[in-house]
Amino acid sequence: MDDDLRSELADLVRAVHAYVAWHGESGSVGFPRDRSAREPREAPHELPHESFATPRPPPVAFVDPAFRAPSPAGPPPPFSPHLFDEPEPVPRVTKPKIPVPAPPPPGEARDKHVHLPRIEAEVQSCAKCRLHETRTNTVFFRGNPDSPLVFVGEGPGADEDASGKPFVGRAGQLLDKMIGAMGLDPERDVYICNIVKCRPPGNRRPEPDEVAACIPYLHEQLDLVAPKVIVALGNTALASLLGTSMPITKVRGTWKLYRGTTMLMPTYHPSFLLRPTSNLAESKRQAWEDLQAVMKELGLALPQKR
Ligand code: SF4
Repeated sequence: MDDDLRSELADLVRAVHAYVAWHGESGSVGFPRDRSAREPREAPHELPHESFATPRPPPVAFVDPAFRAPSPAGPPPPFSPHLFDEPEPVPRVTKPKIPVPAPPPPGEARDKHVHLPRIEAEVQSCAKCRLHETRTNTVFFRGNPDSPLVFVGEGPGADEDASGKPFVGRAGQLLDKMIGAMGLDPERDVYICNIVKCRPPGNRRPEPDEVAACIPYLHEQLDLVAPKVIVALGNTALASLLGTSMPITKVRGTWKLYRGTTMLMPTYHPSFLLRPTSNLAESKRQAWEDLQAVMKELGLALPQKR
């Protein structure tokens, strides 16, 4: 073997090592199947310059027919990032990792419609961390437990604490528009929940000990809902679901595996997309690209290019 070939091989081996190490650091415990190996890569869809404020979308094929109302099928409405303004730097995750447990061994499937209400009742009387002292309501979920798509955020804010439902404030309204742009109904076609179930005072981030106390509820919740795809919204959801300290800016848009089994797409938290950042338009474009990857994974129709 001549020297050039040997050095080329050494470069290749180093590159593969770096790639595997990056995935390990960003929380991967396996490699999701690569659609690009089977399909030619498509250019991201153009972002049309129009509002998120779209009529309620038609139901989609993957939802259990019991949850679908008859309606003419059609492509979902296009998404626009241009409604949002406001910049702020992307927060970095510096807090210690909380290990993610292995999935439970396969056993008899538990009835989610029995066990989810049981966990919710347990959460309602939970006092495992200091957040119980200041909460008005615990916040467990909204949406459809039979959905194949789950969105996970950080924790309740003031509106959520008052109502007992996740994502009902300004960020929640934006999340609903993003889900609507995917051609889905936020109440019927997806399941929405948070890492912690009680509001951190002043809307601060939950502390690691609070996340560690609360996250077993979420792991059990996700085991029961058993979605095909999880969307992790923001740094806290990313760090808590994958046990990584890598920031969302580095990891968003790349498929990961939650507990080695469930496809997970990290993307920006809607509250970040409501803040004025210097590259807000680009962040919105990236968030929409991430959601389009989710749609593709679930076999949903992508918006038509204009
Ligand atoms: S945040 Fe979670 S662990 Fe803490 S009191 Fe609320 S339900 Fe319990």
